Amino acid sequence: MTQTHEKTDIKSMTREELRDFVKAMGQSAFRGDQIFTWLHSGVTKFDEMANVPAGLRERLKLDCEITCHEIQQVQTSKSDGTKKYLFQLADGNVIESVFMRYKFGNSICVSTQAGCRMGCRFCASTIGGLERNLTAGEILEEILAAQRDTGERIGHVVLMGTGEPFDNYDNVARFLRLVHDPKGVNLSLRNITLSTCGLLPQMRRFGEEFPQVNLAVSLHASNGRLRSQLMPVNRTYPMEELMEVCKEHIKKTGRRITFEYTLVKGVNDGKENLAQLVALLSGMNCHVNLIPMNPVSERDLRGTDRKFAEEFCEGLKKKGIQATVRRELGSDIDAACGQLRLNSQK
Ligand code: SAH
Repeated sequence: MTQTHEKTDIKSMTREELRDFVKAMGQSAFRGDQIFTWLHSGVTKFDEMANVPAGLRERLKLDCEITCHEIQQVQTSKSDGTKKYLFQLADGNVIESVFMRYKFGNSICVSTQAGCRMGCRFCASTIGGLERNLTAGEILEEILAAQRDTGERIGHVVLMGTGEPFDNYDNVARFLRLVHDPKGVNLSLRNITLSTCGLLPQMRRFGEEFPQVNLAVSLHASNGRLRSQLMPVNRTYPMEELMEVCKEHIKKTGRRITFEYTLVKGVNDGKENLAQLVALLSGMNCHVNLIPMNPVSERDLRGTDRKFAEEFCEGLKKKGIQATVRRELGSDIDAACGQLRLNSQK
């Protein structure tokens, strides 16, 4: 639990913590459950908590705050109805979240940090560096604010917005516990996917703590040298070790890993890259998600043409490696992968 503006950040508290918190105020523990359920249904004011006694509500108003995001801007994709939210945080920082409609239900892509310090060459989110970590309540509030705005329930969450989730491990882990609580949003952990650029100590820990959460790994290169050029993180955690940790993860969890591979024209999309990738992934329980790189105005890199991306995909499949070319939602509003940024006015 974190303190902001001297007041307790009540939305980041687990139900257990909330029960203890109200007990310390001389209340019954079940009041903690009630407050938890109200918070997670998306109320923005203590006075909306109808079954909480007025005296307790007043006490909470004095001591606590409910983290709420203000919608600064919403852009709706004309082609697929995807909505990109620009949320303003209490301290003035802005973050982006993307709401998507699929056949299987609604999904949201959430940010875990304001900015990012990983420095991947093809990504817009890292251009301004890291501003700060988001709290668990702030990550949760991305879901709640989008549900308030759309009036629809969100059933799937991907941690693939701005930021590196494992660079903010504790708050992300807390968020996962919150969103999974049966008295809150009550999402199955299997409906959640976390994407990482490959911070290995945290990846190991995550496999132990959250084996049910789907893991996606940003690979983006077929050999270590190329990966170091595209992703500075590879200089700290080299690809060979990354692949070892991935294999351990698959063994430990019994679940497949998704590898994300952003296709950059003339950089990682050639025949030799395909061959290297096949050698790297053969026999692994994995799925490759190919994403032709989306344009980022500051970068001179370009995406592979769709037709060649399809060919690359066929090449993997022929060798027995599961692969798909990702259908990009929301690219007309810069809401697609790698296009989210701190300052979306650009
Ligand atoms: N930091 C995490 C979460 C970001 S997820 C990670 O690196 O996995 C966003 C996904 O989009 C990542 O796989 C990222 O590498 C990819 N991506 C970044 N920039 C992109 C771009 N311009 N076009 C397509 N995909 C991109």
